[in-house]
Amino acid sequence: VSAAVAASDRLLTVEEARAGVLEAIAGPVGTETLATADALGRVVAEPVLAATDLPPWDNSAMDGYAIRAADVHEASEDRPTSLRVVGEIRAGCDPRRPVGEGEAVRIATGAPVPPGADAVVPVELTTPVGVDGAPAGPRGRDATGPIPAACLVHARVEPGGSIRRAGSDLAAGTRIVDAGTALGPAGIALAAGAGVATLWVHRRVRVAVMATGDEIRAPGEALGAAGIPDANGPGLRSLVVAAGAEAMDLGIARDDLHDVSGRLHRALEADVDAIVVSGGVSVGPYDVVKTAFDALGEIGLWRVAVQPGKPFTFGTAPRPGGGPAVLLFGLPGNPVSSFVTFELFVRPAVRRLAGLHELLRPTDRAVLTEPVSKSAGRRAFIRVVAERDADGAPIRDDAGRVPVRLSGGQRGQGSHVLSALVAADALAVVPESEDSLPAGAPVALWWLDRA
Ligand code: AMP
Ligand code: MG
Repeated sequence: VSAAVAASDRLLTVEEARAGVLEAIAGPVGTETLATADALGRVVAEPVLAATDLPPWDNSAMDGYAIRAADVHEASEDRPTSLRVVGEIRAGCDPRRPVGEGEAVRIATGAPVPPGADAVVPVELTTPVGVDGAPAGPRGRDATGPIPAACLVHARVEPGGSIRRAGSDLAAGTRIVDAGTALGPAGIALAAGAGVATLWVHRRVRVAVMATGDEIRAPGEALGAAGIPDANGPGLRSLVVAAGAEAMDLGIARDDLHDVSGRLHRALEADVDAIVVSGGVSVGPYDVVKTAFDALGEIGLWRVAVQPGKPFTFGTAPRPGGGPAVLLFGLPGNPVSSFVTFELFVRPAVRRLAGLHELLRPTDRAVLTEPVSKSAGRRAFIRVVAERDADGAPIRDDAGRVPVRLSGGQRGQGSHVLSALVAADALAVVPESEDSLPAGAPVALWWLDRA
C-alpha cells in the first residue's frame, strides 16, 4: 500500500489491504526433501516429473494367453487354431522364455508380455485342451488351475491386441505435479506410482495465535461475573491448520502490554513466520496490541472498507535469527470478524508463504433469496446458506447462480453470532456501493471449507 493511501483518511479497499499484506512477503518459506509418502498437504517446490514409464514394460490387459497374432490369423469360432501352452507368467514374474511359432503362454492381467509374443488372446476366446487332445474344460471362462497342454483360439486377434504398451499411460519425464500446488492423496499416489521416492517441498508455515482480553477464559474455566469463553484462540488455530500451516498456541493474554509483549517475544523466539492476535486492536484505552506490535517493527492501523473487520492491524517485525520478516496480524475480537478477516487477509498470506500459487478461493455466482442491508461504503461478507436439492447438492438457477439465504436471518449477521457462521456454506459479497440489496440481487460467492 502506498504511503499516500495508507496515510490518507479514506478507507482501504479489500484489494488494497490484501495487496499490502502480500507485498510484505518476500517469498515462500524454505524447502526440504521428504519421502513421497510423508508429503500429504505439502506444497511442491519444483515440478514433479515421472521417474519411470507407466506401465514400465508392455503388459497384459487381460487374463489369457500371450501369442503370436500371425498364428491365429485363420482362427474362427468353428475352426479354432490350436496352440501349445508352454508356460505361464504371473504378475511379478520376469518372462525369460520366448513364445515361439504355434506356442502360447498363459498370462495374468498386469504380467509382462514375454518376448516373441505380440498379442494377448483373452481367455474367453479360448478352450483348454488336455494332453490327450480332448477339451480339458469348457470354453475358457477363467484362467485358474493347472495350465492345459494346449488351447484352442476361437478368433483372430490383431497384433498389439490386449497389450498395454510401455509408457502408454505415462512417459518417464512427464510433468505430473506443478510447482506451487499442494499434494492431496491422489497426488501422493500419482507421484509414488510414477516411481518418485522423494519430493522437494516447502516446509510447513508456522503461525502463532494469541487471544487477548481480560474477560476471555479458557473453555471450561469458570466465567465468574464478567468472563466469556475463548472462541478465537481455538478457532484461529483451526483456521491456520485448515490453511495448511502449523499453529503455535500463545494462550490468552490479558489487556496488558507486558503480558502481550512477553507472548509475542515467545513466538519470535520460536521462529514463527506470522503471528495472529485477536482482540485489542481498536482504539480503546485497553487496546494494547498495536502498542506491543509497534515496539517490534513497522506497523499500521489499517482501516479497511470491509464488514465485518474494519479495524485491523498489520505489520512486520524483523526475525530474531535473521531471514524474512515475521508478519504481524491484529484481528478484531468479535469471533465472526476475526474469522472473516482471517479469510480475507491471513489465509492468502499463509498460502503465499507456503509456496502456493493460488492464493484466493475461486469465486462462484449466487443470487439472494431475501433482502439484506449493511453499512454503506463498506464491502460486506455476509454469511449465507445455499439452497440444496434432495441429494444435498446446491441447486442453480437458469443463469447458473446458487440461490442463497442469510444464515441465521438478519440477526445472524451480527459479528458475534458464531452459530450463523457455523451454519453458513459460504460468504456472499455485497459491494461497497450498496447499502441494501433486494431479494433476487446477484452476488459473488466464496464457498467455505466444510469439515
Ligand atoms: P475487542 O476487539 O477486544 O474489542 O473485542 C470485541 C468483542 O469480541 C468483545 O465483545 C470481546 O469480548 C469479544 N472477544 C474478543 N476476543 C474474543 C475471544 N477470544 N473469544 C470470544 N470473544 C472474544
Ligand atoms: Mg478486548
